[in-house]
Amino acid sequence: MREPIERMEALGRLLAEISRHQDNGEQAPCVHRERGHLWLSEDPDEQEAASHACLTACPAFAACQTYVTAHPEPSGVWAGIHREQTPLKRKKKTP
Ligand code: SF4
Repeated sequence: MREPIERMEALGRLLAEISRHQDNGEQAPCVHRERGHLWLSEDPDEQEAASHACLTACPAFAACQTYVTAHPEPSGVWAGIHREQTPLKRKKKTP
C-alpha cells in the first residue's frame, strides 16, 4: 500500500517544482489556462502540440520526466510523451 502514498508524494514534489518556476515567471505549458486541455486531448494534432511544448518550453521538464518514469501515468501527455490509456475491456453479456 506504499505505492499510492509514494505516488502522491512524488506528484507533490513535481507540483512544487512547477509552482517554484511559476513564482519565477516561468510557466509550465501544461498549466496554461488556455492551452492546458491539450495535455488531455484525444486529438493527435493536439497531443503533438502538447508534446512539442513539453520538449521545448517546459522549465520543469526534468522533474516531470523523473516523476512519470517512477510513476507511469495511464493517459495524457507527460514529459513529451503521450501515454496511451488502456481501454477498459467490456464483459461479454451472457444470455
Ligand atoms: S514536461 Fe509537459 S507535462 Fe510535464 S510539467 Fe512540463 S509541460 Fe507539464
